[in-house]
Amino acid sequence: MLKPSAASKTGSRSSRAKAPRVLAGVVSITRQVHFNSAHRLHNPSKSQEWNVAHYGLCTNPHWHGHNYVLEVTLRGRPDPDTGYIMDLSQLKKILHRAVVDKCDHHNLNDEVDFLRGVIPSTENLVIAFWNEIAPHIKAGRLHCVRLYETPRNFAEYHGPDSK
Ligand SMILES: [Zn+2]
Repeated sequence: MLKPSAASKTGSRSSRAKAPRVLAGVVSITRQVHFNSAHRLHNPSKSQEWNVAHYGLCTNPHWHGHNYVLEVTLRGRPDPDTGYIMDLSQLKKILHRAVVDKCDHHNLNDEVDFLRGVIPSTENLVIAFWNEIAPHIKAGRLHCVRLYETPRNFAEYHGPDSK
């Protein structure tokens, strides 16, 4: 489907080359990043028996680690000038600054300010990561934060308005 280009909308006739065709459609784009972190699932307001019953080995006081895989998806219409919703290398920089640099090779229970006092389950991590990433997304809209704790276990969050 053809739409008027940005140049013709503003009435500019100065560019010699023809403006590219703009294709209508809403698209999802995803960037994947990795980090390694230690954590422990433990509710300090409960007894040791309760913690062992709910978390098993994951409540071990000496920590354990995961090779986390974080996938962040934006949705939007491609910009008529670039064909991008957002340059994925730009999204990578945002994810590193907001999440990876703070979590990689750190202890999620003790060393990450925005996780202070939170049980670092995969469910809680996707909500916390969304909250850290969302303010930096200026193009398209944040659609999904997916976190793999293992290749078979992952959680997804679609934001505070999702039910
Ligand atoms: Zn774990």
